Amino acid sequence: MATLFEAWQGVQGRIDAACTACARNPAEISLLAVSKTFPASAVRELYMLGQRHFGENYAQELSQKYAELADCTELHWHFIGPLQSNKTKQVAECADWVHAIDRSKIAERLNQQRPEHLPLLNVCLQVNVSGEESKSGVSPAQLFELAAAVTQLPRLKLRGLMCIPEATDDEVKLAKQFQLLKQCQAKLIQAGFTMDTLSMGMSADLELAIANGSTLVRVGSAIFGARHYSQQEKQ
Ligand SMILES: *Cc1c(COP(=O)(O)O)cnc(C)c1O
Repeated sequence: MATLFEAWQGVQGRIDAACTACARNPAEISLLAVSKTFPASAVRELYMLGQRHFGENYAQELSQKYAELADCTELHWHFIGPLQSNKTKQVAECADWVHAIDRSKIAERLNQQRPEHLPLLNVCLQVNVSGEESKSGVSPAQLFELAAAVTQLPRLKLRGLMCIPEATDDEVKLAKQFQLLKQCQAKLIQAGFTMDTLSMGMSADLELAIANGSTLVRVGSAIFGARHYSQQEKQ
């Protein structure tokens, strides 16, 4: 079995190879290590090896790991899960980034609850690129309005867009959905919004996401191994 170090290096090798294949600079891609369901000790081990950005899906789990790893001063937490109103305070106090903003009410609460002594909270807007009804995210048509609302909030910094494409192996479909996110970003930039992040690509599809413009890949199982859900439901 590969060690955590080998698995992490393996993912970095995949990112480098994907960049070579599409003539991009690997320095443009951030690797977010998604540590949900794995213990703080695994996060610490990877942090000691040099990984700095970690992603969590559940507010309670984030705040526990945040407290346990408070001595890791260069560790940046990204909240990547769906966020309910009653969980925004915990997230506003622990996270450096929130990826899945899909309504202004959540953004407003995060803005109010972001502690004064912390830097601005970086946010990405989640776009429903597959059009599936079950998926969270705003539709491309509603995106402009949400982006405009978020840029009015002084404690948040709009950094970009995020998507979770359809669960399919069909690379043509996936590529279209990644391209749609890229086009949404281009339209917003053209309309005067400033942003630098496209959060797309996970363990199974990071190469395709990079080929289609990703600047941040969210990788869990390819680094930490298979997740075992006990009390938590798979999202
Ligand atoms: C769990 C999760 C990931 C990581 O998924 P893997 O397939 O394990 O790489 C990425 N993004 C989000 C939003 C997740 O919930």
